Amino acid sequence: MPTAQSSRRHFLFSASAAIAGASLPAFAADHPIPTGLPADQAFKTLLEGNKRFVAGAITHPRRSPADFMPLAAGQNPIAAIVSCSDSRVSPEILFDVGIGDIFAIRIAGNYVSGAGVSVKGSIEYAVAELGVNFIMILGHSQCGAVKAAIQHLHDNDALPGAINDLVNSIKPAVLAAQHLPGDLLENSIRGNVRRGVDLLNNFEPIIAPRVRSGKLKVVGATYSLATGKVELLI
Ligand SMILES: [Zn+2]
Repeated sequence: MPTAQSSRRHFLFSASAAIAGASLPAFAADHPIPTGLPADQAFKTLLEGNKRFVAGAITHPRRSPADFMPLAAGQNPIAAIVSCSDSRVSPEILFDVGIGDIFAIRIAGNYVSGAGVSVKGSIEYAVAELGVNFIMILGHSQCGAVKAAIQHLHDNDALPGAINDLVNSIKPAVLAAQHLPGDLLENSIRGNVRRGVDLLNNFEPIIAPRVRSGKLKVVGATYSLATGKVELLI
């Protein structure tokens, strides 16, 4: 896979070819392709996109052939987002961003702790190889995976297939939320996100040093299916 630096070189080459009138089309000047945004700017971009989404003022940036063709040579996403596989939680849509903007890691229940090397390695790849400076773990209201963890918290019967392992990985967040005041589901969803953020902030050797230096930011948030709004948790 190309490194971030080589991706940028490839991108610059492709962009030059496009501008020079080669076979690649020129990309729209009003939708520049993002390149290694600092964490705060990436965060701001996502929050502004979600505001547009909630308000029904979406712009659907960078979704035409002229936008995605130059990206064939490389990518520089502004953020890595770990979100649920739920069909109602598509990050590019709810943050109103385009092709090449988000390195999306989607897993039912959006959990990191207990998810194994696939999820953690994907996040590390986004940071180390693609230059991503901003990571978001995004839970959502009414998450079915968290509901299942609550429902089967004390069951001795195993759920079928690999669903059992998936649900078991979320149960620690439910157990920690059991004695909190308020709604158990909401507290479990939030706790599950916080566990992921805590893990990543201390995850050596790629993520933790960058967090300590201030270059990389890891945040946790939840998405409301009812309102479309993303709320920052941590
Ligand atoms: Zn879910």
